Amino acid sequence: MPRVNHQKRSAIMGKSDVQIEDCSGLTAREKPLFSGSRRAMAPGAEGVVFNIQRFSLHDGAGIRTLVFLKGCPLRCLWCANPEGQSGATEIRYDKNGCIGCGACIDSCPEGAVSQEPATGFTISKASCRACGACVRACPSGAKSEWGETRDADEIVDIVKRDSLFYRHSGGGVTIGGGEVLFQPAFACEVLRKCRELGLNTAIETSGYGDWPWLERIAEYCDTIFYDLKIVDRHEHRRITGVDNETILDNLRALDEMLVSRGTDRPLHLIVRVPVIPEVNADTENMAAIGTFIRSELHNTSTVELMPFHNLCEQKYEQLGRPYLLKGRAGLMPEKVEPLKKTLTDMGLNCTIMSW
Ligand code: SF4
Ligand code: SF4
Repeated sequence: MPRVNHQKRSAIMGKSDVQIEDCSGLTAREKPLFSGSRRAMAPGAEGVVFNIQRFSLHDGAGIRTLVFLKGCPLRCLWCANPEGQSGATEIRYDKNGCIGCGACIDSCPEGAVSQEPATGFTISKASCRACGACVRACPSGAKSEWGETRDADEIVDIVKRDSLFYRHSGGGVTIGGGEVLFQPAFACEVLRKCRELGLNTAIETSGYGDWPWLERIAEYCDTIFYDLKIVDRHEHRRITGVDNETILDNLRALDEMLVSRGTDRPLHLIVRVPVIPEVNADTENMAAIGTFIRSELHNTSTVELMPFHNLCEQKYEQLGRPYLLKGRAGLMPEKVEPLKKTLTDMGLNCTIMSW
């Protein structure tokens, strides 16, 4: 379990109450994974992936295959992919699919599964070693694994199955997560191989990672979707668990890279802003983001606003983790129009994305 302590339940009602104690956002088990990924620029033949979504119309042009990598050093309150936060494989329990046979209790060598009146056949995070025995024993599929180790070639084989669709739609592959920079060597290898095949490539990143890796990854990208959540450093730490200094520095560096990349195969940098009620969904924060882009980035003017949605509640339940924004209504795109206007009035090219 992530050690981030989003301490007060009332955090969901007012931004001044949101508190995150562990600034690193990583558990003791995850820290070596992250630092390990930063150590060497070695080829990354294998990585941990939690989802591959074909025929997507999101996250880039045309029809795309989305590859979701596991592991992220941030712990955003609104995270829509909590199964991507931990770098390790996790066991998911779908109470609705459970037939109550008890096989998972009997199969667990750690005694980590117990039957609880409210939550069903629940896994103790402290005891679970993610060995997968309960998953194999479960006859209904109610217990399953989130995250598996895959070879870069395997991923590329899956991606290239839809080459025909990419060709006709201008699509390709997008790697997200989790955080691409959590497994940079693996991401780099997949992107490099896809580029060799002439496929359009994109990543979606928080920008929180080492610049040498991001620079190298960017060399194999056609498009980078770069999250910019909030400019204020303290607020950023409070709502994500980490400082944004590295994120802003990397964004500046990427912006400069756009020029050196030339026009043969240009790099497109798109700033993405998740719009979260009572966190950053106000004109003041949007103006600060607009000012940063206008004053500090010289080659970037495209912004996508990503209105908050609440489609991920079930995932938190299945992971046995609390979701502090539970029950919050999603933001309808029309509510975001004034924020879009704030940015367009500053000369930025701004689009509101649908859920
Ligand atoms: S993954 Fe292994 S250790 Fe974890 S609950 Fe299942 S059987 Fe037990
Ligand atoms: S093995 Fe599967 S179906 Fe049986 S109790 Fe456990 S989760 Fe439910």
